[in-house]
Amino acid sequence: MKTIIIGGVAGGATAAARLRRLDEFAEIILFERGGYISFANCGLPYYIGGAIKDKKELAIQTPQSFRARFNIDVRAFNEVLKINREKKTVAVKNLKSGEEYEESYDALILSPGAAPVTPPVPGIKNDRTFALRTIPDTYAIKEFIEQKRPKSAVVMGGGAIGIEMAENLKGLGLDLTIVELSNQIIAPLDFEMACMVSEHLRANGAELILGAGVKAVRDIGGSLKITLDGGGEIETDMLLVSAGVMPESKLAVESGLKVNSRGFIVTDKYMRTSDPDIYAVGDAAEITELITGTKTNALLAGPANKQARIAADNVCGAKTEYAGTLRSSILKAFDLTAASAGLNEKTAKELGVKYDKSFTVSPNRAGYYPGGFNIVIKTLFDPDTGKILGAQVVGKEGSDKRCDVLAAAIRLGATAYDLTKLELCYAPPFSSAKDPVNMAGFVIENILTGKVKNFHWHDIENINKENATLLDVREEPEFARGAIPGFINIPLDGLRARIDEIDKTKPVYVMCQVGLRGYLASRVLTQRGFDVYNLSGGYAVWNAARVGLDYLRK
Ligand code: FAD
Repeated sequence: MKTIIIGGVAGGATAAARLRRLDEFAEIILFERGGYISFANCGLPYYIGGAIKDKKELAIQTPQSFRARFNIDVRAFNEVLKINREKKTVAVKNLKSGEEYEESYDALILSPGAAPVTPPVPGIKNDRTFALRTIPDTYAIKEFIEQKRPKSAVVMGGGAIGIEMAENLKGLGLDLTIVELSNQIIAPLDFEMACMVSEHLRANGAELILGAGVKAVRDIGGSLKITLDGGGEIETDMLLVSAGVMPESKLAVESGLKVNSRGFIVTDKYMRTSDPDIYAVGDAAEITELITGTKTNALLAGPANKQARIAADNVCGAKTEYAGTLRSSILKAFDLTAASAGLNEKTAKELGVKYDKSFTVSPNRAGYYPGGFNIVIKTLFDPDTGKILGAQVVGKEGSDKRCDVLAAAIRLGATAYDLTKLELCYAPPFSSAKDPVNMAGFVIENILTGKVKNFHWHDIENINKENATLLDVREEPEFARGAIPGFINIPLDGLRARIDEIDKTKPVYVMCQVGLRGYLASRVLTQRGFDVYNLSGGYAVWNAARVGLDYLRK
C-alpha cells in the first residue's frame, strides 16, 4: 500500500504517524510545500509576543526527526501541482531544485489547510502589512517589530487569531486598534458574550472599532494611513490582516473532486471525498456539525487531528467514523478566557433549531476563598427535552475547564438534568460544592420544571412598562451604582415586608446583579400568586450588552 499525503502540518503529520502505527510496512510519502512540518501553528502569536522564547519550540517535529521516528518519506519544499485521478498519480515540483516529477498512489490524503484571505482593499499589499499562517510569516512579523520598532498596530479582523495577535502586540507595548466589520468580535460567541471580551480588551488598552471595514490602505512613508468605510482614518506603523481564511482546495477542484459552494472539499463520515481513494481532512474539508447534522467546516486543530486519524484508519481498512464537530474553541484575551462548544444562538436561529437559553454567573471558586472571579455561562438547550445544544463561557481562571466539561456533556448528549448530577472535583481553591456547570444545570432544570420564568436583556425594551412592575431586588448601594432605567428598588431581604407595594394584577419583571437573588425573589412572589419573570444573568449580562451597544452607536 502506498499512501501520499498532501500537507505536512496538523492533519497531514497526524495522518502519516497514524498510518505508520497501523502499518509498519506501508510506503508513506508526505509532501509539504513549506520548509516546516508538524509545527505549532497555534503557538505562533505567542512566539511573536515573547511568551514562547525559543524558535525551536515551534517545530514539534522536523522532517529529519519525523523520518527517523516514523520512517516516513518527508518531502519538504515539494509542492503538489496536480492530481491525476485516472492514473492515480500526483505531479510534484521540488521548489528548491525546480525539478518536476510524478508519484503514484494507492490512497491519497489531502490536508492542505486554509489560506488567509487578503480582502481586495486598494493598497493592502505593502511592506508594513502582514498575515499570519506559517513560520516564515511569523519570522517576518517578529523581524519587522525588532528592526523597525513600530509604535502602533492595527489588526484587521476580530477573530481568534486577530484577538490573540492583538494581545501579543499590545504586550510588546504597541498602541493597538482592532477593526472588525461585524458588530462583534469572536464569531463563535453571541453578541452579549462577545461584548464582555470587547470590554476586557478595552480595559487593557486596546481600541476596538466595530461595524467598520478597511476601505483603503496608503503607505505614507514610514507608516500607513488606513481609511475606514464608515469614514475616519487611522495612522499606524503596521497592519495585521486577519480577516478569515479560504480552503486550499484548488488541487481538489481542478481534479474534479466535489467541493461545496464555499470551496470546502466534500467528505463522508469516513473522511472520503467523492473519489473513494482520496480522503480530505482538516481546514479544507467539509464536515458535519454534530448537533444538527448540517454541513459545516471547523478551522481548528482538534478536529483536523481527529479527522486525520480517522482517514488513516480507513486507508488501512478500519471503518472508523467521524461523528461531527462541536467546533469547541477557546481563546485567551489577556487574563480573560472565552470558550464555546456546540450551537450558539445566532446559528440556532439561522438553522431554525428550537432552543431556549439561560445565563448563569457563578464564582470560579468558593466565595470565601480569596481571589475568586465570576464565570459567565450561556447555555442553549432544547426546551422540550432539556438536551444541551451549546455553551459559551467567559471568565477568568477555571473557565476553560467549565467549557470542557460542557463540551464533553454535549458530545455525550447530556441534558440539563444530567448537568445537575455531575460530581465534579471540589475544594475551595478550585470550585464550589455546586460547580458553575452544576449551577447551569440547576437553573435550566428550574426553567424546564416551571419553577422560574426567565426574561433576557434584549426583552427589556419590549416590555409594556405601563402594564408591568419592574423590580430590582439588589441592595440599595448596588442600585445606586447603576440600575436599568425604569426599575424600582426593593431589596430582596425586605421584599416580604413590602410585598403590598407590588401590584398583583401586573406581571413582575425581577432583576438582581447576576440572577440568583432575582430567582429567590421570583420564588417569594410566585408562591404568593404573582406572575413573575427573572432577568437571566441579571444586571451583569444586561450591562455587558448595553456597553457593547453604546460603543456601536458611537
Ligand atoms: P495546516 O495545519 O495549515 O497544514 C496545511 C499544510 O499544507 C500547509 O503547511 C501547506 O503549506 C501545505 N500545503 C497546502 N497545499 C499544498 C500542496 N499543494 N503541496 C504541498 N503542501 C501543501 N486551532 C485551534 O484549534 N486552536 C488554536 O489555538 C489555533 N490557533 C491558531 C493560530 C494561528 C496563528 C493559526 C494560523 C491557526 C491556528 N489554529 C488554531 C488553526 C489550526 O492551526 C488549523 O485548524 C490546523 O492547523 C488545520 O490543519 P490542516 O492540516 O488542515 O492545515
